[in-house]
Amino acid sequence: MKKILIVEDEKSIARFLELELQHEQFEVTVCHNGRNGLETALNGNYECILLDVMLPGLNGIEVCRRIRKESDVPIILLTARDAVLDRVAGLDAGADDYIVKPFAIEELLARIRTIFRRIQPKVENDQKLIIRDLCIDTTAYEVVFEGQKLELTRTEYDLLKLLVEQKNKVCTRELILEHVWGYETEVETNVVDVYIRHLRAKLKTEKTPYIETVRGVGYVMRE
Ligand code: CA
Repeated sequence: MKKILIVEDEKSIARFLELELQHEQFEVTVCHNGRNGLETALNGNYECILLDVMLPGLNGIEVCRRIRKESDVPIILLTARDAVLDRVAGLDAGADDYIVKPFAIEELLARIRTIFRRIQPKVENDQKLIIRDLCIDTTAYEVVFEGQKLELTRTEYDLLKLLVEQKNKVCTRELILEHVWGYETEVETNVVDVYIRHLRAKLKTEKTPYIETVRGVGYVMRE
């Protein structure tokens, strides 16, 4: 049974999510504030965390940032409508995805399924993807860059893998959203830019930068 942690201070929403997820055969834990949520997240082996942004005490963005320092557990933020800044800050803090309240439970379940699909290693992709001094071992889920192992979140990994698989071809933001986030959505394309920024910071090199921007179109990695 997969374990999910819900951190949500509105008890009626938390209870509703708990019942729905239990119905879907998840083992569910609920916390009603940020501090408790952080502690529980770090001490339990959760496969996914649903994290409200507006929490008393420690807000969701900060909880997310602190979890990310220690764990790459998938995190889906629950954000308020119109809180674009929250979403960008949340992704910057290392969240994998977000969903805007109020949402249909089916949509949330679809997001969770997408995350679990991404986690499952694909056996048929048993190979190494290489570009210049960067090597992705898709069976071990390991990335080695200029001789050093690179620590990436799952979303960063998926994005990098896509760019390397498509090397020398320009990936549009829409294509990236579709492949990495994997659903039809109104997610702003600037989410892609946020993740590209993360990757660039991790792929620092003295040589030609690895990820090239094609203005107005998207991104490309070249040999
Ligand atoms: Ca709240």
